[in-house]
Amino acid sequence: MSKALVVGAGVTGLATAWGLIRRGFAVTVVEKGPIPNPTAASSDHHRLIRWHYGDQAGYAARMGEAFAAWDALWVDLGTHHMIETGVIAVSSEEGDWADTACRTLDGLSIAHERMTAAEAVARFPHLDPNLAARFVSYTPTGGALMANRILEGLRDWLTANGAEIRTETEVTAIDPDQVRITTAQGNDFAADVVIVAAGISAPGFNFPGAPKLVPTSSTIVYVEPPADLATAWQGAPSWVDFGGFDDLWGIAPVDGLPLKLGLGRLSLPGDPATGRVASEEKIREIVTAYRGKFRDIERFTVTSAQTNFYTVAPESRFVLQRSGKAVLLSADSGHGFKFGALTGLDAAEAIAEPGRFDHVARRMAGRDI
Ligand SMILES: Cc1cc2nc3c(=O)[nH]c(=O)nc-3n(C[C@H](O)[C@H](O)[C@H](O)COP(=O)(O)OP(=O)(O)OC[C@H]3O[C@@H](n4cnc5c(N)ncnc54)[C@H](O)[C@@H]3O)c2cc1C
Repeated sequence: MSKALVVGAGVTGLATAWGLIRRGFAVTVVEKGPIPNPTAASSDHHRLIRWHYGDQAGYAARMGEAFAAWDALWVDLGTHHMIETGVIAVSSEEGDWADTACRTLDGLSIAHERMTAAEAVARFPHLDPNLAARFVSYTPTGGALMANRILEGLRDWLTANGAEIRTETEVTAIDPDQVRITTAQGNDFAADVVIVAAGISAPGFNFPGAPKLVPTSSTIVYVEPPADLATAWQGAPSWVDFGGFDDLWGIAPVDGLPLKLGLGRLSLPGDPATGRVASEEKIREIVTAYRGKFRDIERFTVTSAQTNFYTVAPESRFVLQRSGKAVLLSADSGHGFKFGALTGLDAAEAIAEPGRFDHVARRMAGRDI
């Protein structure tokens, strides 16, 4: 039986371990914190899954496979961790992100419903009655992947299916030729293949030939609508864009959670060691950006906010690269969670069938349609 070592237990590392066990590997996962680790990009109540993908046709084209991979995971876990809210994308000017995304979907014959602003406001009464929109695009599928529950579910499935999971164990060095890792705790592990899925820490391993991977901060704000708007928010869709180029995205209230507001325009390179405070100024800027989008947003209550980091690769593409018997896997760039289960199956395919490695890497990079 081939032995695999996975460094990092975010969604990428855990799903890769899942894919490898399904293919008969013996797997050890080494994680520097707990699972979930609150500082991991993967850790939060939920992450958005949606079809709209701007001009990145290679990723839009794979969304069907991404949903199918989650379905395969739910079967193994014996439970679902996705709550479908549907998703809207709003275009306010020609050629903006949502407009481009809809052209991409049309080009791929992926169904979505188009409506006018007035139709959208009538159907979704949480929207501002004066919403500025050329059109609103809606998919009934998509919504919230319950991130921490997925990480916990994968951890428990892996343990029940023979994987060795080492938490609170920081990998300090990787030897790709000897296929060994060394940890701060003094352990030494050997295997047939080692997969580096260490998120923002990946650059520290100086992986030969690795592209530039840039830690990038993202602040999200959880808010509660006033009681008189609770009915308007019932059954509200999540959203991936509200027009222009601000990159407003977020998740509707699900499972007793407040709604989650994001503002991609404020996501910038930063230092994960010092940049994790969500400042009052940033929180205010994010909530204010929703004026004219949600009815009476100024009456909402901020319940919490957090700044976390993801890893951006060139052109925001996923990276699968090998050196000797080591594999670097960074399926992130701020859009990796929705592909988590598929990434795990892809990575396992590339590792189990080395002749297909380059093909799988191209596919994961969104270069094949
Ligand atoms: C605020 C925010 C919002 C996002 N929203 C979305 C969204 O709505 N939809 C979406 O699809 N994607 C979203 N993303 C992106 C998505 O969360 C990431 O692409 C994905 O979670 C990356 O997973 P990962 O496993 O590669 O990295 P991580 O989750 O960061 O996992 C890496 C793991 O490696 C561990 N590690 C690091 N160094 C070591 C070491 N030396 N030894 C051992 N372990 C180590 C870390 O502790 C961590 O647990 C968002 C990201 C952020 C930050």
